Amino acid sequence: MNCVKQSLKNSLNNAYAHHIQRLMILGNLALLLEVHPDEVDAWYLGVYIDAVEWVQLPNTRGMSQYADGGIVATKPYVSSASYINKMSNYCKECFYNYKTKTEEDSCPYNTLYWEFLYKNKEKLKNNHRMRMMYTLLQKMEISKDFSEILEKAKTIKQKINSY
Ligand code: SF4
Repeated sequence: MNCVKQSLKNSLNNAYAHHIQRLMILGNLALLLEVHPDEVDAWYLGVYIDAVEWVQLPNTRGMSQYADGGIVATKPYVSSASYINKMSNYCKECFYNYKTKTEEDSCPYNTLYWEFLYKNKEKLKNNHRMRMMYTLLQKMEISKDFSEILEKAKTIKQKINSY
């Protein structure tokens, strides 16, 4: 995952990462993987030179992880790979394919994104900012591919948890 590799490298080498790396790549992945917000706080506070609690915690809990129940952000900050591709040039040099969801080399963000929407449907389907995605999800759920997405997401999580 080139985007994750570059973002981690920058964070660990420089104790700094820009907005896209912090939120859209690392925060997004943490939320899609359902990492506990305490662990995400510990990462941001422990790694970034400019992280002080009174600024970092609302950003992490609220904007990045939607762990305040929607006080700061109007929707969870999650995205699939197409948005990462639009906002960065990481996908061009990545092993994974940012365009697909169920192939062997499909980007994990795509698989995890649709699984996240599916799992949190009851909580989020009436959020007006997510309506379009839930309309798409509804169409996907009746396609034969959707069970493959759920199965693939399970495998990705099992692999990550085994490290
Ligand atoms: S294809 Fe996926 S993992 Fe690879 S750089 Fe793009 S978003 Fe990241």
